[in-house]
Amino acid sequence: MNSLRFDAVKEAFNRKAVKPEAHNELTSEYFGKNVFDIQKMKGYLQQSTVQAIQDSITNGTTLDRNLADEVASGMMKWAIEMGATHYTHWFQPLTEGTAEKHDSFIEYGGKGVIEQFSGKMLVQQESDASSFPNGGIRNTFEARGYTAWDTSSPAFVVEDTLCIPTIFISYTGESLDYKTPLLKAIQAVDKAATDVCKYFNPDVRKVSTYLGWEQEYFLVDESLYAARPDLMLTDRTLMGHESAKNQQLEDHYFGAIPARVTAFMQDVETEAYKFGIPLKTRHNEVAPNQFEFAPIYGEANLANDQNQLIMTLMKKIASKHHFRVLLHEKPFAGVNGSGKHNNWSLGTDTGIGLFTPGKNDTKNLQFITFLVNVLMAVYKNNALLKASVMTAQNEHRLGAHEAPPAIISVFLGSQISQILDHLEDDSMGDEITLKGKRQMRLGISNVPEVLLDNTDRNRTSPFAFTGNRFEFRAVGSSANCASAIIALNSVVAAQLTEFKASVDYLISQGTSKESAILKIVKQYIKESKPIRFDGNGYGDAWKEEAKKRGLDCNGSTPEIIDAYTSEQSLKIFEDMHIFTRKEVEARNEVKWEVYSKKIQIESRVLCDLAMNHIIPVASQYQSLLLEKVARMQSVFPSEEAAVLSEQDMDLIRNIAAHIQLIKRESDEMVEARKVANGLTDGREKAISYHNNVLPYLGSIRNAIDALELVVDDGMWSLPKYRELLFIR
Ligand code: ADP
Ligand code: MG
Repeated sequence: MNSLRFDAVKEAFNRKAVKPEAHNELTSEYFGKNVFDIQKMKGYLQQSTVQAIQDSITNGTTLDRNLADEVASGMMKWAIEMGATHYTHWFQPLTEGTAEKHDSFIEYGGKGVIEQFSGKMLVQQESDASSFPNGGIRNTFEARGYTAWDTSSPAFVVEDTLCIPTIFISYTGESLDYKTPLLKAIQAVDKAATDVCKYFNPDVRKVSTYLGWEQEYFLVDESLYAARPDLMLTDRTLMGHESAKNQQLEDHYFGAIPARVTAFMQDVETEAYKFGIPLKTRHNEVAPNQFEFAPIYGEANLANDQNQLIMTLMKKIASKHHFRVLLHEKPFAGVNGSGKHNNWSLGTDTGIGLFTPGKNDTKNLQFITFLVNVLMAVYKNNALLKASVMTAQNEHRLGAHEAPPAIISVFLGSQISQILDHLEDDSMGDEITLKGKRQMRLGISNVPEVLLDNTDRNRTSPFAFTGNRFEFRAVGSSANCASAIIALNSVVAAQLTEFKASVDYLISQGTSKESAILKIVKQYIKESKPIRFDGNGYGDAWKEEAKKRGLDCNGSTPEIIDAYTSEQSLKIFEDMHIFTRKEVEARNEVKWEVYSKKIQIESRVLCDLAMNHIIPVASQYQSLLLEKVARMQSVFPSEEAAVLSEQDMDLIRNIAAHIQLIKRESDEMVEARKVANGLTDGREKAISYHNNVLPYLGSIRNAIDALELVVDDGMWSLPKYRELLFIR
């Protein structure tokens, strides 16, 4: 009998909630305690220096190098008071998560060791980080990379280390991270959107990108986790028969949060607040043992840093509570996967949300203008937007259980749809009746107040308009949000630029400003129609329909990535100054490499499970059955024994068939891997992994899951779905 599984189950089952960190302060009293924000700078820096930093944040200007020494020593003073002994440039390479290399503050001074942190160390650090993915950009002779301070994201102290958010670029200036292009994409939208805003309000100086992420995740007890090599090594279960009960009763979503989980959440919140992360919402998600955190939205670069930080904090804090956090997009087959909905919006420095319907004609024309430009951008670049969220992990989630399909479409809701339909139709008069709502006048100069019905929602759409923002739901739970926001901002910036050129041209030909805007808006409404879909995105009918509409329906990650290097995408990236061709190509190389490695690791782990766990256990049980059949023969007359053993014989054959399949397909999978590994081209290798290795993971799993159903439960060595999903 196997004891590891049962020991783990017993341990997990008997666990009590761990007491969360006690504190008597109000959240507002310790919020941002670990962050060197503007308020704290005032206590450590000269007023003029704080002002210079503030300006560099609001205007995106570079901070005067001469101030760096003062900022650095003030920052160090604060950090040492916070208990820090080390500092690190904290950056986001093209792997998952963040990277940091800690250096102590000590230097040799005149009389021995002193604490020192110079402006040079703050502003820029040379990293010998040649092992970070770079897609071949850095040859060994110039393996240097640089990290440089991003003033728009404040430094913070984690335990004994001062963390300085930085960008990460190569010696030759190419970006090797997520933050650099994110900052560029935020700037690109700022410029393009501000120009368009000036049609409506000449006072607008700046348009910011806002992001509100919703982080979904699973929790699994650490003992059970440790008994599952697949979870430990791949972050997802590669096998496991569906539990008799999973989410069909819909009793988990918004249900009472289990005590151990509440304690975990409270600790995460306390930590998050110290780092200035405004967590607002916590709740159960749809699947058993699935949960969510969401903050109050904020400026996109900072919000994304906070999301990166919270993923790290969650992992750390989970250990204290004897849990493991699974951020994988699809840790369990047969139940919901985890997304990270990116709520995205644009807002002006005059306080106007550009996707918020206004109270007067001008504001509403502005609202419609921005909405329709987003529609157009998403329509024309639906393949690229999908590419920005596709990974080996998210591939399992999209299109499965209650996740949007791997086809990008936009949900607008019936009210907005009616307004667009009306605007598009020149033959309609100025009056329209919105279903169940009051009369609304719509004409050239008066797009009236739009009152949105908040219940008009659709959960199946990958990209939904939700009243004052768009919710990009296809983004996966483990993703760096920047990937999606970079793509989205780039295409929207390019679209707004094109829009402005068209409107300006009409104006130069004598058309009035309003008529010119409306003319182009109408044209866009007509053209972008194929991207609008308010129906059920989960149905097969939609896949057929989407194909007819010419939307990208490819579900293979390595091929979807090609959308980054289409002439259209490259032109956008270059025109908007987000990426050079070299950078895009290098990043694609990294994506293909990561994809191949992920499948390779999963394939190895599954072979290991099959050979060292599943087959031995199934064979052992099969031997018991064989012994029983043999004994029947010795006790009963042969014919009677045969009748009595019929079921057992069937079972023996059944087990044998599954074992044979598992062995045969494991061998074939190893061969397929060899073929894939033999390919030198990264793209071809990834495609080969997708087409020729990945399918085996499914079919071998099916055979293993079939064995799980028939083999004696007492012998089964790996924790089952019901244990992983229901013990908390
Ligand atoms: P739902 O369950 O309806 O998706 P949640 O409350 O879970 O909503 O999450 C909504 C997220 O959207 C929150 O992070 C919220 O701060 C964010 N959000 C709200 N308004 C905006 C906006 N204008 N721009 C960006 N994000 C927003
Ligand atoms: Mg939500």
